[in-house]
Amino acid sequence: MQFEPVIGLEVHAELQTRSKMFCGCEVVDNTVAEPNVAVCPICAGMPGTLPVVNARAVEYALRVALALGCEINYTSIFARKNYFYPDLPKGYQISQYETPLAVNGQLVIKTKAGERTIRVRRVHLEEDTGKLTHVNGGSLVDLNRAGVPLLEIVSEPDMHSVEEARAYAEGLHEILRYLEVNSGNMEKGVIRFEANVSVREAGTDQLNTRVEIKNLNSFRALERATEFEIARQAEVIATGGTIEQETLGWDDLKEQTYSQRSKEEAHDYRYFPEPDLPPLVVEKDWVEEIRAKLPELPRAMFQRFVMQYGLTEYSAGVLVAERAVAEYFESAVKSRKVSAKSVANWVVGDLFAVANQAGETVASSRVKPEALAELVEAVDGGVVNQTTGKEILIEMFKTGRSAGEIIEARGLKQVSDVDFISKIVAETLAENPKEVGSFKAGKTGVANFLFGQAMKKAAGKANPAVVKTELDRQLLL
Ligand code: ADP
Ligand code: MG
Ligand code: ZN
Repeated sequence: MQFEPVIGLEVHAELQTRSKMFCGCEVVDNTVAEPNVAVCPICAGMPGTLPVVNARAVEYALRVALALGCEINYTSIFARKNYFYPDLPKGYQISQYETPLAVNGQLVIKTKAGERTIRVRRVHLEEDTGKLTHVNGGSLVDLNRAGVPLLEIVSEPDMHSVEEARAYAEGLHEILRYLEVNSGNMEKGVIRFEANVSVREAGTDQLNTRVEIKNLNSFRALERATEFEIARQAEVIATGGTIEQETLGWDDLKEQTYSQRSKEEAHDYRYFPEPDLPPLVVEKDWVEEIRAKLPELPRAMFQRFVMQYGLTEYSAGVLVAERAVAEYFESAVKSRKVSAKSVANWVVGDLFAVANQAGETVASSRVKPEALAELVEAVDGGVVNQTTGKEILIEMFKTGRSAGEIIEARGLKQVSDVDFISKIVAETLAENPKEVGSFKAGKTGVANFLFGQAMKKAAGKANPAVVKTELDRQLLL
């Protein structure tokens, strides 16, 4: 039997507002901050305290929901999800259940086979939990993260390969960063994935028993865990077994899933409407205001770069992967009359290479967009050749000087003067009689060698096109 995987993803993304979801505590980077520096009676779950909704978190959530084309529920309901855990002092998590903030969106993903649309079932607001560290037979609790706004984005079970699951996860990651609601810094745990996986006979459309793999903290873990689980389930079914519904963890070192709890032990969260919070009402006007201010999203930008500037899909893809890079490219293009394709090639090629090597980013580099455009203009205009251009870029990156200054100071201006070049070519031919003889005897390939010699003689400053024309002319004399 041929198996087809069925995958649905639940993505948890922190909304990186200044303060927490229901209290005034600061949202701190909990990989850096001392434990329990951002805690108050509300997020510590003290009796008698009352939560207040963070409007900025709602705005961030709406940005995401709108970017995913969701329908907004103008009235949504907070609910209590009850369970006991040491990092959840209240004994319940405030979440949204029956009426989430938004439903029915979609994300278009890119795969080798082309674009595919994955439906988004719901987007809802909740709060993050604290963090436990297990040491010396005991556990330490850090509540810095407790109550940090968390967005849950749940897909329909529309993905049918590991590649699609990864593309979806990466697509969301990219959008969250474009919307400036999340740093995208996976190592800090600000985005976590849960994969729901089942398999079925290829070509059918039933939804079989699934497992849920919790807390996948990287694209790689998502990919490996999903891959592992698909193979395991296919094997179980192929050998006559049945898949049990269960919650699994992922062991990153052993690269295998392990059972956390079975269906019998499944939580009954006893959801009920949060009595301490009124229904969350978002005004239509506010929603429309947020919609109008959404930035151009990566897919639209990609298509525009290909259409408007004639970039290759490869270049456009590299540029839009990072909003700051896309903006860098476009501001370079707009700063001068230069070829957008050339600018794209320089950014994707040499500028990336130089920045990477120095451990910097394109956007933070000392080479500003206008300065890069000036260099591109000098190369495309024949003032310096490509090779010299690369050297100039390295110097621009190191010193922050402009291409014009460097060309001037180092006397790098390329010479197109025909008399000068003609003399160099004549000397080159005189010094290489044997090669000239071979050329005349029909071995036209030696022209390349002679070209190289002439360029060398001119110390790389001669305009190669003029050298070539002049060489061809003199060889045929
Ligand atoms: P819950 O986790 O609260 O039980 P659902 O059952 O509605 O919620 O689904 C959660 C996730 O599981 C969704 O992303 C959904 O797409 C996915 N899912 C549901 N059924 C299947 C299935 N048979 N195979 C794979 N994924 C599934
Ligand atoms: Mg679930
Ligand atoms: Zn607090």
